[in-house]
Amino acid sequence: MAYKISEDCISCGACADECPVSAISEGDTQYQIDADVCIECGACADACPVGAPAAE
Ligand code: SF4
Ligand code: SF4
Repeated sequence: MAYKISEDCISCGACADECPVSAISEGDTQYQIDADVCIECGACADACPVGAPAAE
């Protein structure tokens, strides 16, 4: 199970800078995580100011 970014995302980009495997990209409406690349380290959740990333 990968991490997933909820609709609470405000597209600040902080998580993408912290992801060790570059699984996070800027989507059409908010940032998104590539489930096939995510190693579930939790760094994005720690970096997010609104708690948007969570383990599915
Ligand atoms: Fe990247 Fe880790 Fe977040 Fe997965 S849990 S998207 S590997 S920072
Ligand atoms: Fe969205 Fe949180 Fe990532 Fe910022 S750190 S882009 S609010 S998920």
